[in-house]
Amino acid sequence: MRYLVLSDIHGNLQALEAVLADARGVGFDATLVLGDLVGYGGDPEAVIDVTLDLRAAAIVRGNHDRVAAGLSPSADFHDQARAAIDWTRQTLSATALDALAALPEGPVDVTAGLMICHGAPFDEDHYIFDARDAWRALTFDVRDGEPPMLCLFGHTHVPAAFAAGRRHGVEVLLPDPDSDDEDRAQYLRWDRTRATLVNFGAVGQPRDGDPRAAYGIVDLARGRLIFRRVEYDIKTAQDRILAAGLPERLALRLDRGA
Ligand code: ZN
Repeated sequence: MRYLVLSDIHGNLQALEAVLADARGVGFDATLVLGDLVGYGGDPEAVIDVTLDLRAAAIVRGNHDRVAAGLSPSADFHDQARAAIDWTRQTLSATALDALAALPEGPVDVTAGLMICHGAPFDEDHYIFDARDAWRALTFDVRDGEPPMLCLFGHTHVPAAFAAGRRHGVEVLLPDPDSDDEDRAQYLRWDRTRATLVNFGAVGQPRDGDPRAAYGIVDLARGRLIFRRVEYDIKTAQDRILAAGLPERLALRLDRGA
């Protein structure tokens, strides 16, 4: 089984289409969506349509989806995020708003030992940036009994991976730059004996300094967590943001991946 993992698409149709074309070339059996379909980008309606057409095996909402759907106020967002989400809420069709409102809050189980969430398993709004955040998530008892063996998360827009240490603490995992598989992507081997947290980065608004769209493939049979990056038509995505009258910075940051 190979899962395509999409997170933080943020209304960026050009990035989503480039990722799907790349992923279809690589091959996958089912899709997991980790939330934030909308916000920031200029094509929220089309992104919702294309994403829901994938008939994901599992999907969770993100904080931007929740606010766009009117389930919580936009007042907590910083100015540019609020401008974008207020515009998104005004521009979406009733059908699309209903679809966003119906997205489940994470965490959601995919299959035994694999779950997805938006921010963290204990709080969809919590950011997992460092080992301290990861420790809380890795030791959090989501269900009665065991913490998740593999939990996929998003929200930070920065690729990252952490595993429970062999004796104690948290180990930060980095894909080996020489670990290119036949798909020419970096990957980590998944040690199934240890609770592991993985963020493959953001499709529609990368923030790790690499402007290419980010996504992942979880190859269960081969035990590989594959981190992929894809060039896309940034110029058109920027034009769509500006055409919507959204803050210029939301367009400019796509050039820098920051
Ligand atoms: Zn996001």
